[in-house]
Parts: sequence; C-alpha cells; structure tokens
Amino acid sequence: MSVQDLYQQVILEHNKKPRNFGKLEGATHAAEGFNPVCGDHLWVYLQVSEDGIIEAAGFEGSGCAISKASASMMTVSLKGKSVAEAQELFHGMHELLTGMVKEGPKVDALGKLKIFAGIWQYPARVKCAALSWHTMNGAVKSEKIVSTE
Ligand code: ZN
Repeated sequence: MSVQDLYQQVILEHNKKPRNFGKLEGATHAAEGFNPVCGDHLWVYLQVSEDGIIEAAGFEGSGCAISKASASMMTVSLKGKSVAEAQELFHGMHELLTGMVKEGPKVDALGKLKIFAGIWQYPARVKCAALSWHTMNGAVKSEKIVSTE
C-alpha cells in the first residue's frame, strides 16, 4: 500500500467514525476554530488535570473529511500527554503540514500523525488539517475555563 493510499484510507475511516466526537463534559479548556477558506468550523475541548495532564480531549462541529479526520486523530494522540507535550506536537504538526520538515526524527516523533506528510503539496488542504491543532493551541493558551463546576 502506498503512502497516499494509506493516507486516504485513514482519512476516510476517521471521517466516517470520528473518535471523541461531541461536547466533552467536564472540559477545563475549550476553543472554537474556523477555516473560512473551506468552511470548516469546530470546537475543541480538553480536560486538563491539576498537574497539567490532558485526561480527555474531544471535538465537535462540521467540516470536510480532512478537518474532521485531523481533529479525530488529534484527540486520540493528545490523551495522556502533558500540555507541554501537546504544544510540542502542535509545533511538529505545523512543521509537517507546511512542509518545513518532511522526514527524519521530528516526523517520526509524530507517530500515526505523520500520514499527513505530503499535504503541504496541497496548500488549500493544509488549513483543513491544521485547524484542530490551532484550535487546541488556542484552548490551551486562552485558559478559558468552561468547567460546569
Ligand atoms: Zn476543510
């Protein structure tokens, strides 16, 4: 199976069955993200423990297959990570999606997320894949507490 086939298969699968889809009850951080170029619109929720560990992540909204698949995969990869590690992933994904880094240890460190390597060749889709990550980064930085407590 080529990398391109694998990419398409993973995108389609996550789009059909997005993980952690829906409003996250007990979220401590949330942000809303737009990608007007494509019409993607989503919310990212994080539940961060007092010692800075992401115990749960979720998202909801509507958008194209790439934006949904990217958000779905992001929520899976964030669970159990520290906020600092999440921001490291954000920077790694930014470099991968924009084509600044194409291969090597930095890409390998992204694990399953590295299927997005190659998307830099399609500038219109880069923002779709990056939206959830930018939204997550915003949620972490704004520290907007939306806990119902
Ligand atoms: Zn899109």
